[in-house]
Amino acid sequence: MDKEVRVRFAPSPTGHLHIGGARTALFNLLFARHNNGKFILRIEDTDTTRSTDEYIEAIIQGMKWLKLDWDEGPFRQTARFDIYKSYAEKLLGEGKAYRCYCSQEELEQRRQEAAAQGRPPKYDGRCRNSEHQPDKPFTVRFKTPQEGQTIVNDLIKGVVEFENNQLDDMIIVRSDGTPTYNFVVVVDDIDMKITHIIRGDDHLNNTPKQILIYKAFDWDPPAFGHLPMILGADKARLSKRHGATSVMAYEEMGYLPDALVNYLVRLGWAYGDQEVFSRDELIKFFDLENIGKSAAVFNPEKLLWLNGQYIINSTAAEIADAVLPFLVKAGIVRNDEHIDKEWLSKAVKTLQERSKTLIELATSLKYYINEHVEIDQKAKEKFLKPDSIKVLAELKAELENMSDFSAVELEKVFVSLAEKLSIKLGSIAQPVRVAITGSTASPGIFEVIEIVGKDKTLKRLSKVIEGG
Ligand code: GLU
Repeated sequence: MDKEVRVRFAPSPTGHLHIGGARTALFNLLFARHNNGKFILRIEDTDTTRSTDEYIEAIIQGMKWLKLDWDEGPFRQTARFDIYKSYAEKLLGEGKAYRCYCSQEELEQRRQEAAAQGRPPKYDGRCRNSEHQPDKPFTVRFKTPQEGQTIVNDLIKGVVEFENNQLDDMIIVRSDGTPTYNFVVVVDDIDMKITHIIRGDDHLNNTPKQILIYKAFDWDPPAFGHLPMILGADKARLSKRHGATSVMAYEEMGYLPDALVNYLVRLGWAYGDQEVFSRDELIKFFDLENIGKSAAVFNPEKLLWLNGQYIINSTAAEIADAVLPFLVKAGIVRNDEHIDKEWLSKAVKTLQERSKTLIELATSLKYYINEHVEIDQKAKEKFLKPDSIKVLAELKAELENMSDFSAVELEKVFVSLAEKLSIKLGSIAQPVRVAITGSTASPGIFEVIEIVGKDKTLKRLSKVIEGG
C-alpha cells in the first residue's frame, strides 16, 4: 500500500490569516482530502518577539470560518523545544553539526572584510574543527556540504538546482539555545511524517538547505510543491494597498466563506473553464498538476461576482441565517429580538438576486423590517406629487378592507383600482414603491407589500398621505 499522504499548513503567528496563507492552507487541505490523507496544522511560533497568542487565535478563527478543518494539531513549535534539542544533539554527535564560538563582533568584522574584497558574506567554516570550549557561549551550525548540487524536483516549478558552495553553514541553534527556522521545519516535517510540502514559493530558496538537513538525518525528503505568489492588479505582490488581505475582513464585508474558498482555489489552479465548484467537486478535481507556474492576480471584482453567485445559489433559509448577524450589527434587528425565520427567508428570497454581499442584503432588508422607511428625496419629488398622493389615499382605503394580504390578492386590488381611476398600473405601483421601500427600485411590489405586511404598509401610506 502507498504511504499515507500527510501535509501541513505551518503559519507563523505574526499576523492575521491572509489571502495567501488561506490559499496555501486550502491547497493542502484539498490535496489531503483528495488523497484520503491527513492535514496537520502547525503553528510556527519560535520567533517569540513577533508571535502572539492573539494571532494564533485569529489564524484559527480564520481557518474555522473557511472550514479548513485540520485533522491533527494545532501543534506549537514553542512546546517542542526538547524535540529540536535532541535532533540537534544527534547531528552534533554524528559530526554533522558543530559548535561555533565566533562572537557577533567577529562575524560582523569578517563580513565587512568579505564585502570589501568582493566575496560573498558567507561563514568561513572556521569553527568546523574547533575544540570544545566549555565556558564559551556557542551556536550550533550545520555542516553544509561544500561541493556538488542540491536538486529540488518541485512538483510545480520543475527541477531547480542549487550549488552547495553557495550555501552557508547555517546556524541551527542560537546561542540562547533556541532553534532556528530552517532546522525546526525539517525536524517537525520528519517527526510529523509529512509526505508533501505545499507552500509559497518565497520558501523555494530555503528548500536546498532543508533537503540537506533531511539527508543528514538519512531521511528521504518529502515532495515539494511551491506555489506561485499572488499579485495585485498592478503586478506587485498582494498587499494592503490592493484592498483587504485578511480573511476575516471578508467575513466583515459580508462574504460567504464558501465563496471565498471558491475564489481562492482559482488563484493559481484551474479545472477547464469551470468557475463555481462545490466542496465535493474541489476535493474530487484538485491536483497539483493543474497549478500554473506563473503568479496569480487577485481580482476583487471577480470575488464579488462569485459571492453574488453563492448568495443566489444558496437557499433563502441559509442566507437568512447568514444575514442575521449583519442585521444586528447594523442595528436593524435588536440582539434580543425574536425574528421569524420563515418570514425573514421570504424577504431574503426577493433580494438574493440583487445582493452581492450580506451587507448589501442587510441594508435592503431594512424596508421589510423597520417600522418606517426613510424616503429618498429625489424619488419623493418625482413620484409623491399631490396627484399620486390622492391615488395612494384611494389605495389605502381599499387595502384596509383586505383580509387576505397576499401578493395575488394585492395585484387584483391594484388592477381594479387602476381601471376605476383610468390610470396605468405603474401610476399606482411606483408611488407605492416609493412610499413602502423609500426608493424607486425594489423586487416585485406585490411581493414586497405582502412581506412588509398590512400593518406597516398602512402606516407608511398614512405617513405619506399626511405629508410625513
Ligand atoms: N512558517 C512559514 C511561513 O509562515 C511556513 C513554513 C513552511 O511552510 O515550510 O511562511
